[in-house]
Amino acid sequence: MNRTFILVLAWGSGISGMQALIPHDIYCPYCGEVIEILIDNSVPAQQYIEDCQVCCRPITIKTKLTRRGELEVAVSHENEV
Ligand SMILES: [Zn+2]
Repeated sequence: MNRTFILVLAWGSGISGMQALIPHDIYCPYCGEVIEILIDNSVPAQQYIEDCQVCCRPITIKTKLTRRGELEVAVSHENEV
């Protein structure tokens, strides 16, 4: 529940010009396991593919900084997009 809030704080501390990789837990859309990813806070919106550390299938990860300064993270199957 507090995950977004924590991310917002981390993002704010990165605005001073320092690039940082923020750890964030996601659920694999294939096997449902929790995976930790690192989000680059210097990019306001990005999309990339990362292989699941458990089942090794490619997960499409989309991150977006909203106008309210919140970081949204969406994960989907490779074929969904
Ligand atoms: Zn998986």
